[in-house]
Amino acid sequence: MNIRNHFPTEELQKRDAAHHLHPFTAQHDLANKGSKIITSAQGVYVYDSNGEQLLDAMAGLWCVNIGYGREELAQAAERQMRELPYYNTFFQTTHIPAIDLSEKLAKLAPRDLNHVFYAGSGSEANDTNIRIVRQYWALLGHAEKNIIISRKNAYHGSTLGGASLGGMNAMHQQGGLPIPNVQHINQPDWWAEGGELSPEEFGLARARELEEAIVEFGEKRVAAFIAEPVQGAGGVIVAPDTYWPEIQRICDKYEIILIADEVICGFGRTGNWFGSQTMKIRPDIMTIAKGLSSGYQPIGGSIVSRKIAEVIGKDEFNHGYTYSSHPVAAAVALANLNIIESEGIVERVRNETGPYLAKKWARLNDHPMVGEAKIVGMMGSLALTPDKANRSKFLSPSGTVGYICRECCFANNLIMRHVGDRMIISPPLIIDKEQIDILIERAWKSLDEGMSKVKEKGLWESAPI
Ligand SMILES: *Cc1c(COP(=O)(O)O)cnc(C)c1O
Repeated sequence: MNIRNHFPTEELQKRDAAHHLHPFTAQHDLANKGSKIITSAQGVYVYDSNGEQLLDAMAGLWCVNIGYGREELAQAAERQMRELPYYNTFFQTTHIPAIDLSEKLAKLAPRDLNHVFYAGSGSEANDTNIRIVRQYWALLGHAEKNIIISRKNAYHGSTLGGASLGGMNAMHQQGGLPIPNVQHINQPDWWAEGGELSPEEFGLARARELEEAIVEFGEKRVAAFIAEPVQGAGGVIVAPDTYWPEIQRICDKYEIILIADEVICGFGRTGNWFGSQTMKIRPDIMTIAKGLSSGYQPIGGSIVSRKIAEVIGKDEFNHGYTYSSHPVAAAVALANLNIIESEGIVERVRNETGPYLAKKWARLNDHPMVGEAKIVGMMGSLALTPDKANRSKFLSPSGTVGYICRECCFANNLIMRHVGDRMIISPPLIIDKEQIDILIERAWKSLDEGMSKVKEKGLWESAPI
């Protein structure tokens, strides 16, 4: 059933600009330009108010893993709303969706990660993680062990806690962030920051910054290290192979809690249920959200190890959200996980469509503006450069060229985002081979057009190294 839009686009844009403040947006610029109005969606496609069909190579915001328009999830929500639309789990009560979903997640999660604390989003879940790891060490008599180490250019959400853990300069510049006792080491982005080192040497060097930080702040002060298995919003940065084994070694050696932020990587995105499995790490806590419900309902959470659950359970944990374990969100998440499992979506990404996309994506390396084409499962990135051989950045402020290319993608009915001058994709996991061909074809065409525009505007110039 399609609900048709009968309002003229311009009128909707005006009403939107009059009363709606958009996230991560310069409001006045957008008001002048007018937002694109998305009216419906099906499979891997979204439709706008002008009737255009766009291939959504971002799965919304990295979240619509099973694609749009799945009736089963609408039905799960409706059933649950009729039965029990809301009840909390604060005061010694629970409900069946929370029980079912927790049991399911405990089965899906690796090793003994088998207790779940729910939130309404990934940001909230990371706020929970800050409190869990500090409370964990406090209960063990080490209240001073409260520093959390993260990485520059990481994304862990937009609450005060999440944005503090994150390493986005632009976010820290506003509102007095980060909160105390969060420290950031450098990211493993070889293409942009590797200099003369080989990827392997660079991966080791960046991982060893964690050890240096632990030694600098003192083993007695460091509670945890948090990282995305593959950095998402930072530009789909895939660490060199040497990076993660070294990080795991360091966390083991100093008994630092390893938090894997699986908000993007979780639920099949990298070809396994969790990105931690793809990177062969053993986190003590995993942050989940996004693909957990394929974005059909807002829900996130922290899956913690048996050991952490045992310690946290010793005392009242003074933390929770009204919508922790929301029954409708939990019922929808469960229906979503059942679809991912019963339709073999993770296996299809790992064995079929993932390798197919990887092969096609690698061909974009041949484009004269592409410096590196990276991909893991269904998340990929392209570093744009005016000089491949020297891995040069553009002279124009970062994001100028990326934005031009993004606009070309939109004009070609492809939703591909840019982060600085990196182009990124994260399509719905159900994308088929034919749709992958369309994606690549539109991406190549958009890069060609983008490159022409960049040259026309006199922006084809390298920054000094
Ligand atoms: C999106 C994201 C978050 C924040 O999730 P929200 O639901 O937007 O609060 C946290 N971590 C990662 C890795 C993300 O990609």
